[in-house]
Amino acid sequence: MKLKIRTGFGYDVHQLQEGLDFWLGGIKVPHTHGALGHSDADVLIHVICDALLGAANMRDIGFHFSDKDPKYKGIDSKILLKEVMALLSREGYEIGNIDSTICLQEPKVNPHIPAMKACLAEVMGIPEDDISIKATTTEQLGFVGKKEGVAAFATVLIHKQ
Ligand SMILES: [Zn+2]
Repeated sequence: MKLKIRTGFGYDVHQLQEGLDFWLGGIKVPHTHGALGHSDADVLIHVICDALLGAANMRDIGFHFSDKDPKYKGIDSKILLKEVMALLSREGYEIGNIDSTICLQEPKVNPHIPAMKACLAEVMGIPEDDISIKATTTEQLGFVGKKEGVAAFATVLIHKQ
């Protein structure tokens, strides 16, 4: 039987605002500002969802979980990620690996990466070794550098027999 391997990509941005909880990679990162959004605005989970859906050619996160739907107001993005995993597994797909980058000027993301990996591995039911999370600033340039927002990118491989 032929192994079907597909790749997917995700990109997302959220505004940062003072006084909001900052959910990133499934955990709450201590900071003066947090991301603004209809859900909990977890930009890393959103790009992973979009990359997974894209790999399976199943549209995007906004298609499945509308930001007009009050049901998703303030929702924990880990619940959305679980639902995306269920959609893919219904189609017979398994995860190969995930690679991601968070673009944020501050706070430093690196100390939180082990906790994010552990959290996402548990939510997705895959080994931590299959989840890579990287972080970069944008050297004070652009909306990320000016601390107005947070951006993230992710690529994934999925496969099925
Ligand atoms: Zn988002």
